[in-house]
Amino acid sequence: SKDAGKNTCTFFAGDMNDEAFERLLMENGLRLALERQEFELHYQPQINPFTHQVEAVEALIRWRHPDLGMVSPARFIPITEENGMIRQIGDWVLRTACSQLKAWDDDGVHVPRVAVNLSPRQFLRGTLTATVVEVLENTGLAPGRLELEVTEGMLMQNPAESVDILRELKALGVQIAIDDFGTGYSSLSYLKRFPLDSLKIDRSFVIGVPDDSDSSAIAETVVAMGRKLGLNVVAEGVETSDQCRFLRACGCKLLQGYFFAKPLSADNLREFILDSVRA
Ligand code: C2E
Ligand code: CA
Ligand code: CA
Ligand code: CA
Repeated sequence: SKDAGKNTCTFFAGDMNDEAFERLLMENGLRLALERQEFELHYQPQINPFTHQVEAVEALIRWRHPDLGMVSPARFIPITEENGMIRQIGDWVLRTACSQLKAWDDDGVHVPRVAVNLSPRQFLRGTLTATVVEVLENTGLAPGRLELEVTEGMLMQNPAESVDILRELKALGVQIAIDDFGTGYSSLSYLKRFPLDSLKIDRSFVIGVPDDSDSSAIAETVVAMGRKLGLNVVAEGVETSDQCRFLRACGCKLLQGYFFAKPLSADNLREFILDSVRA
């Protein structure tokens, strides 16, 4: 009937106006974003609470869309995972992060290490090691200054193949971090099985510290376990001085979060380092 047709139209129009329309805008925009140079990397410091030194930065991608403004990676990375664009974007992130470290070197600003997030498709595609070798050669960055962040979920998709890939990367001298630790519902046995250098305690365990006794017990135990396994332990999402004090007292040697700094543009990170050296 006429009414039903009208409802359908309203339904589609309403739908297209928000989520579907935005997704379409994003998919089309993503196709052009690389050549239009709309991506940027921001860098969030990881700070040693005992020495107050910046020991590493995590590279986090930003997308400046001409109409949508800044789009969060939490929204567009999953789309690029689905349509495969993450491969090119992931390569761009690796290249840009490594050359940025060299650019800071040349500028007299020493950032010891950069951590780069890998996506599942990038990790399991079989050409990752070759890409990393190429990027390190082209930028001249020492391999030990690059850290690759992987998640439990990525490793567990194909544990046997993952061990091989990680061994290849380790053989290059690159560091491996396990991101969002504790959120992957997998067993602890993989900590023994995979050759890892660092473990990043997910923000969800840091939020309740130090008032919530369960969160505090988990955070304290993970720091102790990581240290006993010889891993660098990084606490993510540190927002308050109380969290900082508690994690420091647990012996956590690297802290990352808004308490110290939000992810910063390359220029602002440079200023942050110069200020911290002066302080
Ligand atoms: P992630 O790797 O777990 O990154 C940490 C996220 O927490 C970042 O969000 C960071 O800005 C945010 N964060 C840092 N400190 C705090 C804090 O104190 N409080 C709160 N509330 N948040 C904090 P961002 O930059 O929006 O990135 C979201 C996710 O997108 C990342 O989570 C990562 O999974 C993904 N992502 C970002 N950049 C890349 C990239 O270059 N490649 C890939 N494959 N994924 C990326
Ligand atoms: Ca990460
Ligand atoms: Ca994380
Ligand atoms: Ca996360």
